[in-house]
Amino acid sequence: MTTMRALVKVAPGPGLEMADVPVPEPGHNDVRIRVRQTSICGTDLHIVEWDEWAAETIATPMVIGHEFMGVVDTVGSEVVGLAVGQRVSAEGHITCGHCRNCRAGRRHYCADAHGIGVHRPGAFAEYIVVPASNVFPVPDDIGDDVASILDPLGNATHTALTYDLVGEDVLITGAGPIGMMATAIVRHVGARHVVVTDPSGYRLDIAAKMGASRVVDPTSADLGEVMSELGMTEGFDVGLEMSGVGPALDQMIEHMVTGGKIALLGIPRTHDVPIDLTDIIFKGLTLHGIYGRRMFETWYKMTTMLQTGLDVTPVITHRLPAADYERAFATVASGQCAKVIMEW
Ligand code: NAD
Ligand code: ZN
Repeated sequence: MTTMRALVKVAPGPGLEMADVPVPEPGHNDVRIRVRQTSICGTDLHIVEWDEWAAETIATPMVIGHEFMGVVDTVGSEVVGLAVGQRVSAEGHITCGHCRNCRAGRRHYCADAHGIGVHRPGAFAEYIVVPASNVFPVPDDIGDDVASILDPLGNATHTALTYDLVGEDVLITGAGPIGMMATAIVRHVGARHVVVTDPSGYRLDIAAKMGASRVVDPTSADLGEVMSELGMTEGFDVGLEMSGVGPALDQMIEHMVTGGKIALLGIPRTHDVPIDLTDIIFKGLTLHGIYGRRMFETWYKMTTMLQTGLDVTPVITHRLPAADYERAFATVASGQCAKVIMEW
């Protein structure tokens, strides 16, 4: 049996190991991909640190990771439309195909989705096997770096495109990698003002590069003042909550226009986030939860935006060989970064 190097959560508890594991064999409808570049998601950090969610969710041993790109190495006998040597990424949610939502074409709402690097072997490895129907061929004019972050770019795209943004004033709370990329998307599709909040100056600097009208540290600046400086009178038309932090959502609700719309992507660390329902009711706000990305509308939209001038490269702040994974994860944990790429 041939083996490969992979980053494995070997047993319950904190930690991660570079281990030799068998090279996965593709089934009839699968594709095996030679992984070239991966990037690290907050989810991977939760798995390494072994928080409550990870302990409840991850069966060990598990190869982790889901943000990746690579080259098709082997195609199963039933696979059509994909060829060995093709540059690809893949949707990390393996959907069941027969629940109500899957059959209605709403695969992002599948009742029984399995995540690569969470429920089944992931991408932080020399090879990964995924169903051919999850593979997304990467256009030649999208480089390997951006190809390896299409997964989080998909979250940013799906959230940002929830509502009409043309000529609107948009508030983005949380300038993590996803908030940063959403900033560039909101700009690309024609919003008027894009205000981004985050307590991290390092991250606000990147959000500014991505096209924010104003970047705001919510712990020291007043959003109301920023709005009047911009000539805004009634509030933000669209809010994209990308921090998962209760006070950020409060601040957003407070500064929305009456009738405004909020897309919620950030996942709170605790279940009991207090919100002022009265404000939501009297302001007639719409709040919409976002999970994952549309399969595969979001993939098409984001690649065509990339092909028509959307530039998300400022979010790639670090690049390390996979062998240096400890340093890569420490960099992500420090918060002084956006996307950290590991080369395989
Ligand atoms: P991230 O943790 O890197 O970014 C969150 C940012 O919020 C950080 O930069 C942090 O400094 C900032 N923040 C903290 N307090 C704040 C406040 N009071 N106001 C404004 N910002 C504040 O995460 P990311 O990778 O960019 O992802 C963004 C969020 O989306 C996370 O909560 C993540 O768990 C979630 N997520 C959800 C889905 C989904 O399918 N719903 C998918 C991917 C990620
Ligand atoms: Zn399903």
